[in-house]
Amino acid sequence: NRVTVETVHKTYPVIIGEGAVKEIGPVLLKMKNKPTRLFVIADEGVYAIHGSALKEALPDPIPVDWHFVPAGESAKSFSVFEQCLTAMLEAALDRHSLVVAFGGGACGDLAGFCAASYMRGIPFIQVPTTILAHDSAVGGKTAINHPLGKNMIGAFHQPEAVIYDTSFLHSLSEKETRSGFAEVIKHAFIADEPMLTEILRTIQKTADIKGAFLAQCLKKGIEIKSAIVKEDEKEIGVRAFLNFGHTYGHAVEALSGYGKTAHGEAVACGMIFALYASQFKNNFSFNIRSFAKWLKGVGYPVKEGLGFSFEEIYTVMTRDKKAYGGTVRFVLLNKIGEPYVTDMTKEELQKIDEHFRKEAE
Ligand code: NAD
Ligand code: ZN
Repeated sequence: NRVTVETVHKTYPVIIGEGAVKEIGPVLLKMKNKPTRLFVIADEGVYAIHGSALKEALPDPIPVDWHFVPAGESAKSFSVFEQCLTAMLEAALDRHSLVVAFGGGACGDLAGFCAASYMRGIPFIQVPTTILAHDSAVGGKTAINHPLGKNMIGAFHQPEAVIYDTSFLHSLSEKETRSGFAEVIKHAFIADEPMLTEILRTIQKTADIKGAFLAQCLKKGIEIKSAIVKEDEKEIGVRAFLNFGHTYGHAVEALSGYGKTAHGEAVACGMIFALYASQFKNNFSFNIRSFAKWLKGVGYPVKEGLGFSFEEIYTVMTRDKKAYGGTVRFVLLNKIGEPYVTDMTKEELQKIDEHFRKEAE
C-alpha cells in the first residue's frame, strides 16, 4: 500500500501496512544516492517496544549509529536538539549520510529538524509509530519548541520516504489512539464527506479504532494531506485548511499545560467549536450536537475547553501565530469537504463560545 507525495523539490513514497518496516531496506538500497551511513534518532520509549523490528529491517551493508531521545514532547527542546547534533558530528555524518526518525510526531519533528539543519540539510526517512504521525510525518514541516512558543523554531524539509508500519500502532495507549484519530476525523471534515460518514458509523469506542478500517483511514488521511501539500508546500494558502479545529484546540492544549489533554483531544474540542462557528457564520448545516455526543461516546473529553473562561481562551488564541490584530484566523466549513479561512472578531467568538457552553450542558 503506497501513496506518492509530490512537492516542488521532491517526490517520495509513503509505504503503509502491517510489517511495512521491512520495506526500509529495499528503499534505502534502491536510493539514487544510496546513503553510506545511517543515524537513527529514536524515541526511547518506542525503541524499548519496537526497536528490534527496525534493527532487523535495516540493511546490513550500511553502518548505523543509534541515538536515543526522551519519549514524546520533551524531545523537542533545544538541549535535546543540541545533543543530537553533537552526536551527529561525533559520528562524522556527511551529506551522504541519512537520518532515520523512529517514533511519534515529536521524535519525527525533532529528527527532521536535525536533518534539516545538519550541514544545511541532509536526507532523512520517517518511520512514524503513532496514529497522529500519519499527519506529522508527511508534508515536510519539522520543528522544535521554544519556551515562548510551540513549533516556533523549525524548517521545511521533506523526507526521502515515509515507512509507516501499522503493527507499531497496536501498543498505543487509548489516549494516544484517540488523539491521533482526531487528525483523521479532521482530514475527513476538510475533504471527504463519505469518509466522515463511514467513521461515524464504524467507530463507537476507542477500541474500534484499529485494524483494516484504521489502515484505510490512515491511507485516506495521507492522501488528503499530500494533495494539500502538493498544492501549497509552504503554507501560504490551502495548507492552512489543515488547521481546522486547531485554533481553539491549541488554546485548550496550551491552557491545560500540554500533556493532560493530548493534542488530538484538544483538537476534537476545537473542531466542535469550529463547527458552531461555521453554523454561526454561514448556516453550515450539520448535527453538531450528535457529533459531540459521538465524540464523547468514543472517549474524547469534549468539554475540556469549558474548564477555561472565554477570556483565557481568547487571550491564548490571539497570541497564536495565526492571529492578526484583535481578530483570530479560523478555518471554517461551508459544507463538509469545503473549508475556507476567515478572521473572526472577539464579539463573534464570544457569542459562539456562549452557544457552545449552553449546548454542552
Ligand atoms: P508523541 O511523539 O509525543 O508520542 C506520544 C507518546 O506515545 C510518547 O510518549 C511516545 O513515546 C509514545 N509512543 C509513540 N509511539 C508509540 C507506540 N507505537 N507504542 C506506544 N507508545 C508510543 O506524539 P504524537 O501525537 O505522535 O505527535 C505529536 C507531535 O507532533 C507534536 O509535537 C506536534 O507538534 C507534532 N505535529 C507535527 C506536525 C507536522 O506537520 N510536522 C503535524 C501535527 C503534529
Ligand atoms: Zn494537529
